[in-house]
Amino acid sequence: MKRIKTLRFRFALWVALLVLGALIAFGVFVYFSLARDLAAAIDDSLRLSATQAIAAINYEDGRINFTDSLPENSPAASLRARDLTIRILSTKGILIGGFGNYRDVPIPPETISLPQRDESLFATFADASNNNSIRLYSAPIIEEGQRVGIIQVAKSLASVQETLNQLLRALLFGGVALIALAAGGGYFLAARALAPIDQMTRTARNISAQNLSARLNLPTTDDEVGRLAATLDLMLERLDDSLQRERRFVADASHDLRTPLAAMQAILDVTRDQPRNTQEYEHALDDLEFETKRLNILTEHLLQLARSDGHASVVSEPVDISLLLSDVCESLRMLAQAKDLTLACNVAPELVVNGDSDELVRLFVNLVENAIKYTERGGVTVNAHSDGKTVRILVQDTGRGIPRQDLPHIFDRFYRADASRSTGGAGLGLAIACKIAQTHGGEIQARSVEGKSSTFTVLLPRAPGS
Ligand code: ADP
Repeated sequence: MKRIKTLRFRFALWVALLVLGALIAFGVFVYFSLARDLAAAIDDSLRLSATQAIAAINYEDGRINFTDSLPENSPAASLRARDLTIRILSTKGILIGGFGNYRDVPIPPETISLPQRDESLFATFADASNNNSIRLYSAPIIEEGQRVGIIQVAKSLASVQETLNQLLRALLFGGVALIALAAGGGYFLAARALAPIDQMTRTARNISAQNLSARLNLPTTDDEVGRLAATLDLMLERLDDSLQRERRFVADASHDLRTPLAAMQAILDVTRDQPRNTQEYEHALDDLEFETKRLNILTEHLLQLARSDGHASVVSEPVDISLLLSDVCESLRMLAQAKDLTLACNVAPELVVNGDSDELVRLFVNLVENAIKYTERGGVTVNAHSDGKTVRILVQDTGRGIPRQDLPHIFDRFYRADASRSTGGAGLGLAIACKIAQTHGGEIQARSVEGKSSTFTVLLPRAPGS
């Protein structure tokens, strides 16, 4: 039952049914065409024989003289050799003469009552001695415009029947062989074509949410199955990739959440250990505040990432980037001044993009905050201008720069170039900024000269018509 449900079995069945249908149509056409042609040929030969026989008849003194032994040299002599029966009847249907196997078979009455003077007819009737049919041609013998008798030419249809039976046998045996061949061939071809799908099913069974490392790895072919296998492999790779990233993210997140909590616990333990003076308590509270801020920023960042991963719908409204950047610079000016850094904002007016202004503020605050955080001397410059259909925003600083080997990774989640982690960040700011740029149809590029400067370039599509 299981086998019957397989695609290859159904394919073989369909092929066999199609061949059967075609064979039946072909067989019926050939059989009946041949039967009709053979019947027409027999009728033609009977009519011709009758004409030849009439030519051999002597009509003298009102009497028909049809010699039983036709003269050797007469054209009608060959009639005997054709396995024909020829008989001559009077106009009343009385047998006058003739020869052949069916000379004496009863005369069917309809074959002698020919209503018209020169009317002829064909009749088929059963041979009483065996199962064969006899074809009989009946025509008037006309002399001097008068019907003087009737000639009947008959022939057994056994040979015709035998030819048709042979054809039927050939069609039956040939048909059965052909159907078996087609079904077998169909099964074999379907099995060959579907073998990779079986392999896919086996591999797919071994794939679980915990283990996405299995691949189909089928030989690359440019057919439907090959393309399906390649697409599934690509899909598995993407799923595996995102699963790995998810795991790393959860591990890093729990690690980074534990660090400030452990620090807070340690501060509390040490402070409680013995009685402290007011200054020491204040110091402990400051430390606790620092760790709480870290925890706050971290949970806020995690929340933002989780939200953007969940593909929460992005608000899309025209946002004046020129105004937005000026606001961001103003709000962070104090931060820069606290480190004795300059913060310049050279922004072309009326640069508009479509997007979510809160998200875009988050993006640029992250970049400018980083620039201030990682710069000890000099300053930070924010430039923005339009580049045709693109708005190009550059955040440059004169800080420590980013080591060459870290540059490709700084947009990864939890990646931090300074291993000491003295700056208190969690390594999520740039990942969030990158995600925001992407959801706005843009991108971020980073360049740096180590020890000298860093430049982050944000490219955003300009709002149409702005
Ligand atoms: P963090 O919270 O550590 O700042 P980010 O994702 O914002 O995390 O940045 C990732 C890393 O990239 C940082 O740890 C830092 O080493 C490096 N980085 C980012 N911006 C700058 C910059 N303007 N100058 C130098 N290094 C930077």
